[in-house]
Amino acid sequence: MRHLLSIEDLSREEITAILDRAESFAEVAGRPIKKVPTLRGRTVVNLFYEASTRTSSSFELAAKRLSADVVSIRSSGSSVEKGESLKDTVQTLSAYDPAAIVIRSPHVGAAALVARWTAAAVVNAGDGKHEHPTQALLDLFTMRRRLGKLRGARVWIVGDVLHSRVARSNILGLQAVGAQVTVCGPPTLIPRDIEALGCAVEHSLDGLHAADVIYALRLQQERMTGAFIPSLREYAACFQIDGRRLRPGQLLMHPGPVNRGVELSADVIDSPQAAIAQQVEAGVVVRMAVLYELLAAEPPTSSPTRPAADMPASNASQREHAPAASSASAHAEATA
Ligand code: ASP
Repeated sequence: MRHLLSIEDLSREEITAILDRAESFAEVAGRPIKKVPTLRGRTVVNLFYEASTRTSSSFELAAKRLSADVVSIRSSGSSVEKGESLKDTVQTLSAYDPAAIVIRSPHVGAAALVARWTAAAVVNAGDGKHEHPTQALLDLFTMRRRLGKLRGARVWIVGDVLHSRVARSNILGLQAVGAQVTVCGPPTLIPRDIEALGCAVEHSLDGLHAADVIYALRLQQERMTGAFIPSLREYAACFQIDGRRLRPGQLLMHPGPVNRGVELSADVIDSPQAAIAQQVEAGVVVRMAVLYELLAAEPPTSSPTRPAADMPASNASQREHAPAASSASAHAEATA
């Protein structure tokens, strides 16, 4: 894997290998000293042109826990405010010879453009309403831990699907691993032709009881150019997940930031069925695994004599996943 621009860059096997690798890093994260020397002497640049709390902090922490030198730049306070273009900024930062550039931008396709301008590996940390592949990976990681397996899981994605890069990456990622996806929201917030991605579409929560996972989305008001809902109150009345709608045993997820009282009621956010804090926690180890895969993993070889020990964490992918599964060999590799 040269870049991670879209979840579609990854096969089912590659997704599983990243989740397994993240399990080995979760083991490291449980130690008092959470650092491994894997990327010592290498540089990771985080370039954030759009607001971020979870994604930016977890990418920074992930690179630091791998011992990389990290430069984090936000558009506010940088020369972007003076009018420097994305291309000039990338070329300037490329002078530091970064091993990876992590980019978030409000523009669809920005990460793909950056990949054309730099020799570094590029990770898409969200490009407009297009994709957010590492969010989908951390969500898959969280679901696999809580459910034990992903194949056959019934996942309802509820809310503003139209403006959500998280929804798009999750639909594609969940289907790659054999989960069944239903998207649900008012017709104005569901993209036309979304069924072409292979998911079912609902415009009411009537069938929600059948879901194993309810994945709620924020209304992306910053991307809305017109009136997509009559009012927040009416939206909440029809689509808010609250204590009456969340059935016992269902897992509740949200990528954050949550608008309390809009897509989720306060009681469900704080319930043990909510995995929101675990999603944040997973963000660090999954992003460590992505950086590892891009910068440190051995390239695949066609030689049949090559020992499988090249990718120890992938060995774990052969077995069914118990919650919190990890392998001693993967652990050894993570600390190498
Ligand atoms: N944090 C996620 C994103 O950057 C979801 C959201 O903002 O609603 O896309």
